[in-house]
Amino acid sequence: MPFATSAQDILRYRSHRRVHRFFRNRALDLMGFMQSPHQEARLSFLSFHFLFEDEHDNFRRLLEYVSNHFLVVSYSEAVRLVKEGGIEENTVCFSADDGFENYLEAARIMNEFDMSGCVFVCPGIVGVRDFASIKTFNNDRLKGPALPFMDWDQISEVIELGHEVGNHSMDHLNLGIITEEQLSHQITEAHKHIVDRLGSCTHFAWPYGKPATVQDALFPILKSLDYDSVASTIRGHYLDRDHELVYLKRNNFEPYWPLNHTKYFLHSDRYA
Ligand SMILES: [Zn+2]
Repeated sequence: MPFATSAQDILRYRSHRRVHRFFRNRALDLMGFMQSPHQEARLSFLSFHFLFEDEHDNFRRLLEYVSNHFLVVSYSEAVRLVKEGGIEENTVCFSADDGFENYLEAARIMNEFDMSGCVFVCPGIVGVRDFASIKTFNNDRLKGPALPFMDWDQISEVIELGHEVGNHSMDHLNLGIITEEQLSHQITEAHKHIVDRLGSCTHFAWPYGKPATVQDALFPILKSLDYDSVASTIRGHYLDRDHELVYLKRNNFEPYWPLNHTKYFLHSDRYA
């Protein structure tokens, strides 16, 4: 099988972390079970990467839980709530990084629950169909097995389904270690491609999402292009009194996780 087709394929690729994962999972089983909803209303950004067929049922269970316990808003609405305030009940929004082909199915499943998300794409790999190039991009840039990406027609379909599309840089490089000139190219080229195809783009998520993989020069570049938001993968939540204007915190989850594990990250202020 040339492409990864299940969550198991992802886990096999990460098998060197098996022992770490075992202990982390047992801790999350317990902590997720003990966690109860917090008192003060807060907004959480939940992010993921891919959704395989063997995860659909589990993903639906999560969406069902979230729709029963949270207000689910679009990404743009969540950004507005962080900037302008108005978080009056526990609120969640979804986003996904990298623009894998299987986001399309995630988008359709979210629609079953009247939800939408924002998918962050890298135009440098959008529509590439050559297996070797896809495999190299996944191995080198995403540290994962070969998995196909959406093309522009599929990205347009995502928009038609009511989801949003954001900029994840041109080629998914570590933006923390490239020159300012390369950085500017990575952002503005990607912006141009997305705007040419879709008309506009106002949300950015930087690759890898950690402080070490970004540099301050990113922020004025995005400002000059009129971006509304910059997202990290640093965990955290927003209360109504927070007005984070530098970058957004997001809580990563994997759709195959037991519900308790995602609940732990949704409800806790402490992170395993
Ligand atoms: Zn990424």
